[in-house]
Amino acid sequence: MKTRKKITRPVRNHARSVKSQPHAAAEHEVHASNGARAGASGGLGRDISNGMNVRIIKKLPSADEIIAAHPISDEGLSQVKKDRKEIEDILAGRDDRLLFIVGPCSAWPSEAVLKYAKRLKKLSDEVSEKLKLVMRVYIQKPRTIRGWLGPVNQVDPYQEPDIAEGALYCRDMMVKIVEMGLPIADEALFTHNAKGFAELLSWMAIGARSVEDQEHRIFASSVSCPVGMKNSTSGSIEVAVNGIVAAQHKHHAVLDGYQVETKGNPYAHLVLRGGEGGPNYSQEHVHAAAALFEKHKIKNPSILIDVSHENCRLNGAKEPAQQPVVVKEVLFALKKNPEYKRLVKGFMMESFIQEGSQKLEKLTAETIDRGGLSITDPCVGWDATQELLREVAKEI
Ligand code: PEP
Ligand code: MN
Repeated sequence: MKTRKKITRPVRNHARSVKSQPHAAAEHEVHASNGARAGASGGLGRDISNGMNVRIIKKLPSADEIIAAHPISDEGLSQVKKDRKEIEDILAGRDDRLLFIVGPCSAWPSEAVLKYAKRLKKLSDEVSEKLKLVMRVYIQKPRTIRGWLGPVNQVDPYQEPDIAEGALYCRDMMVKIVEMGLPIADEALFTHNAKGFAELLSWMAIGARSVEDQEHRIFASSVSCPVGMKNSTSGSIEVAVNGIVAAQHKHHAVLDGYQVETKGNPYAHLVLRGGEGGPNYSQEHVHAAAALFEKHKIKNPSILIDVSHENCRLNGAKEPAQQPVVVKEVLFALKKNPEYKRLVKGFMMESFIQEGSQKLEKLTAETIDRGGLSITDPCVGWDATQELLREVAKEI
């Protein structure tokens, strides 16, 4: 593929102190960041904090600069358009393949993520008649309380957060995967930091902790790719369906100093990820969602079953080996029940090179495993992933 001419990176790494324990942004003096902008000169001559309680760290590169540092080819962009359309067709019932959003809980480190992407691309070509695979390249991580917020915020969890470095690292990783010909997905968490990434994504999630938030719902109504709205952490499906209603409508919003009207996203759909009350992939849960879709006249009514998160708990713990078990259980129900099949269009699965996870807090920069072992939620390993997807492709 030809690529546009590259320009030199506007921002490079900065001198940083090496620490052996993971850093969380919350430990620093940054209490609020919304609205903080450095002056046009880049100098800090005026009060850019605008009455907010922040310590200014540095000016960040613009979205245009980030894009120019890691451009995508025209072919890559056309591929994204084509992938979005294929996903829309699945959600609208015009294509009866199953959609699989699959990949690591968090996209770190990039070497392992790219190695995984190569394997997934090969598998994707093999199963493409039956399954549409979209790789999770999740660069932003929500936390229940606090912790590492993903590579876009902090490339090295044992160093200070560096958002300029994170943006360039993540754009580079995402562009490389899209140029391989693999569609990618991310959670829309830091919506004010979306430009430079949104153009690369074929699918986005609004996460369980964000789905009741107006900014996230309005953001979902403004993006050009299908968005999956997850049920809330409490397990409320109604909150997610209300989110879908909001995302499918138009809104007036602020974008880059302009008042804009969002166009509404007719492909906003539901992702069932389990909740405080336990798993929610049963036919009863699907029926409950269907009733809400009907009540609100949801366009392209669709559900993806997230077989990870609260849908993979066994004896209180998230058990990666449970994820394929849930896929098979749902697949069995899909084959038996046409009503279920009319709504359930696919799955989300958390998978990486190695099975399981490791804890940042218990390791150091020297001892952490960088070979594709999750540092957030436990993942299904590559062999089990490949075996499952081949089996599903054969079964449907
Ligand atoms: C995730 O997909 O890794 C995630 C954090 O999901 P949820 O919003 O369902 O917790
Ligand atoms: Mn996860």
